[in-house]
Amino acid sequence: MTEETSGLDVAIVGGGLGGLTAAALLARQGRRVAVFEKAPRLGGRGATQVESGYSFNLGPHALYRAGDAIRILRSLGIEPRGGMPSQVGGFAVRQGRKHALPAGFLSLLSTDLLGVAGKIDAARALAGLPRVAAAPVDDVSWSDWCAGYARDPIARELLTAIVRLSTYTNAPDQLSAGAAIRQLQLALSENVLYLDGGWQTMVDGLSEAARAAGAEVRASARVDAVRVGSGRARIEVDGESVEAAKVILALPPKAAADLVEGDVSTTLAEWAAAQQPVRAACLDLGLKTLPRSRNVFALGIDEPLYFSVHTAAARLAESGKAVVQVAKYLPVGEPVDAGSVEAELEALADLVQPGWRDYLEERRFLPEMVVTHAVVEARRGGYAGRPGPAVPGAEDLFVVGDWVGAEGMLADASFASAERAAQLVLSASDGSRRAA
Ligand SMILES: Cc1cc2nc3c(=O)[nH]c(=O)nc-3n(C[C@H](O)[C@H](O)[C@H](O)COP(=O)(O)OP(=O)(O)OC[C@H]3O[C@@H](n4cnc5c(N)ncnc54)[C@H](O)[C@@H]3O)c2cc1C
Repeated sequence: MTEETSGLDVAIVGGGLGGLTAAALLARQGRRVAVFEKAPRLGGRGATQVESGYSFNLGPHALYRAGDAIRILRSLGIEPRGGMPSQVGGFAVRQGRKHALPAGFLSLLSTDLLGVAGKIDAARALAGLPRVAAAPVDDVSWSDWCAGYARDPIARELLTAIVRLSTYTNAPDQLSAGAAIRQLQLALSENVLYLDGGWQTMVDGLSEAARAAGAEVRASARVDAVRVGSGRARIEVDGESVEAAKVILALPPKAAADLVEGDVSTTLAEWAAAQQPVRAACLDLGLKTLPRSRNVFALGIDEPLYFSVHTAAARLAESGKAVVQVAKYLPVGEPVDAGSVEAELEALADLVQPGWRDYLEERRFLPEMVVTHAVVEARRGGYAGRPGPAVPGAEDLFVVGDWVGAEGMLADASFASAERAAQLVLSASDGSRRAA
């Protein structure tokens, strides 16, 4: 055991964005903190890999400019840099054909995606979205809500495609309309950022902030067991036993349940069993140049597909080269046929950037990435139905992740639950100091 980890205030398991955020926030408040990450590199699903000069996030990643992640990063002195993608000039793909994507008034007028009645309906629906009250429909499914909100079938398909784009969730019958509307409002209010250098810049910023405030951040440190509930908690890491007053599990729900011993593991196992992961298949391409320089965005309307040239907004490769991200929002709960999904993604690239193979320098196919560990479900009342960060029956244990807490979706949920867990740890330790 190193001197630093001998008597910790907080041990954090998992060195992704959630774990690192909790570490930075707690270390800033003077707590003795250590983070244990099993992989050789920090970052989890927020990591960026550089191949032949192309910086690839793990599939397409966009940071919500009005979301919790960016607010918390700024509170730690970290300013994410990048550019906002523009959907103007983008395509809506329906029945294998490209149409102008209705991204504004002019493209809505000119597109042949919708008939006249559909255009009027879509214009009214899109214009009204910022003012829709989300809370009353937290327990209504997106498909039920949308059926009453838009009359034209293609306008409904368009709205559902925009929901997939902003939530990644391809489960319109299960997704909470309230959660979807909040996410749409977030996207429409301030757009998103594609980050220069990729999401690794956030990982690096957070780990530097945590270390600068005195936290120990260890990679290649797999935690094998966590014991809580009898005075100080103990975690087993690479054959060492580390003691801590509190433990934060910044992990996937099943990994958290598998680590913890004792009664509380039943609660964690029930939480894990109740979650439905949101997955995507991703084709990441590095191209010497773009065959069609203006074709930088396409959204599948009748098929759950996405195409975006991330270098159109962010520095991710040498000038003139392109990082292209193509993805399929996989139907929740259904098996994946990797071969046919890869062919679908290539066909979309053919449609938007014909001849792309002639310029290909790097490619990577990730058939089944877990984007977020839990659909925000209508039957659970939306965000309010998500568990944690406190774990009932264990005062010294907290969970953090994109499946945790009552705020935000995707990475915003990891950041928000990390902030909430840090607040709970701080108020618990302040309380015990006062009692002492
Ligand atoms: C394809 C794709 C696209 C995405 N797009 C977006 C987007 O556009 N916008 C957005 O906001 N979010 C997006 N996300 C989601 C975002 O990446 C995640 O929500 C976020 O990175 C989760 O961070 P985390 O720290 O909660 O979890 P993770 O990144 O999963 O971190 C958990 C960490 O725990 C470690 N670990 C596991 N077991 C142990 C153990 N026993 N001991 C020690 N360490 C352990 C793992 O190695 C991992 O590093 C996307 C994700 C994917 C996959």
